[in-house]
Amino acid sequence: MPEPLTPDALLALDRQHVWHPYGPMPGTAAPLLVESASGVRLRLGEPVEGRDELVDGMSSWWSAVHGYNHPVLNDAAHGQLERMSHVMFGGLTHEPAVRLAKRLVDITPEPLQHVFLADSGSVSVEVAVKMCLQYWRSLGKPRKQRLLTWRGGYHGDTWQPMSVCDPDGGMHELWQGVLPRQIFAEAPPAGFGAEPDAAYAAHLRELIGRHAEELAAVIVEPVVQGAGGMSFHSPAYLRVLREACDEHGVLLVLDEIATGFGRTGALFAAEHAGIAPDVMCLGKALTGGYMTLAATLCTTAVADGISRGALPVLAHGPTFMGNPLAAAVADASIGLLLSQDWQQEVKRIEAGLRDGLAPAARLAGVREVRVLGAIGVVQLDHEVDMAAATRAAVREGVWLRPFRDLIYTMPPYITGDEDVARICAAVCAAAREG
Ligand SMILES: *Cc1c(COP(=O)(O)O)cnc(C)c1O
Repeated sequence: MPEPLTPDALLALDRQHVWHPYGPMPGTAAPLLVESASGVRLRLGEPVEGRDELVDGMSSWWSAVHGYNHPVLNDAAHGQLERMSHVMFGGLTHEPAVRLAKRLVDITPEPLQHVFLADSGSVSVEVAVKMCLQYWRSLGKPRKQRLLTWRGGYHGDTWQPMSVCDPDGGMHELWQGVLPRQIFAEAPPAGFGAEPDAAYAAHLRELIGRHAEELAAVIVEPVVQGAGGMSFHSPAYLRVLREACDEHGVLLVLDEIATGFGRTGALFAAEHAGIAPDVMCLGKALTGGYMTLAATLCTTAVADGISRGALPVLAHGPTFMGNPLAAAVADASIGLLLSQDWQQEVKRIEAGLRDGLAPAARLAGVREVRVLGAIGVVQLDHEVDMAAATRAAVREGVWLRPFRDLIYTMPPYITGDEDVARICAAVCAAAREG
């Protein structure tokens, strides 16, 4: 065992050498040191604001739906570790990947029959885009190579995904002339339960029709736009996209990396609209937050199209494709989710968030409070003071990571009522002080 490092030494080395998400080097705000995590609690290596434990309001960026250190997922990881943690996927296969693929095909919309396992959400979006472009090339339509999306979206940080992130929030300015230029519709009108706006539906149809010749695919996050602004929209617009794509010969990609596995109250957000995409991306909660894994699913029509081309293969194959350890944990995580009344848990959390966040609507500086499934959002009328808001939440014993004008939570589904109330109190405190 290496010599243990003190918390101070770790934080000093972190500052000197370690890059953090969306941060400068060296970092400006010191991260909190986590020593371990169990259930819904993060145990800190060094107390902060008098707290040595925090209730996790973030599920580690939507992923840890069953909480931390879960015995079922631990068993799956240990069991697989003793057989093999990894073998290459070229020319070899194994039970964890096959079982996982079959399970994903069984639980996603029926037309999705084929599974490409990728190593992160962004890569699964790259693969989805490659599938769509290659499909049209194979069919002799190489001009169909652009993408259409609506504003306010987020699809990851590698190049193709970045090109369909919201152009205002997504640093497009910085990458003008470098990113592929995609086609942007206006952001969908807000409100999951709002009456669909006929003028907006017409706008979507018109744009898809006008650009059909050069469009390979429409790609959107269904029902909830996550990291692009935490906004909800009517599932009716997904039906509009499905119809317009069918009418004009354009593929539809649904990025369910954030919404998949029950977060919005449906197992997949596409179910709210009763539609099936041609390609679907999954990630985040796929392994219950244990490790990185993502998947791109497609229909038989897309797979057949690609396989009829001059290059009759999908030209993609990450080194760690199909990683057995990740696949075994993912299969166990989905099994665990489906073995319980998860809809009831999500509904229970939804009710707790509605109750607990209602007082925030009366605070000065709050523009809107919205809740859908196990997602609670308080939108301010100004940019959050990150340091002050985070400190306020920590003082309440809760971990939150606000961004832009948003203080939000998507707790693990195992979060008990008292902890949901505590998270809501922390969101309110962060809204008051941030
Ligand atoms: C997080 C996210 C991604 C990117 O996934 P990574 O694993 O971070 O690469 C893509 N799309 C959506 C909708 C996401 O929420």
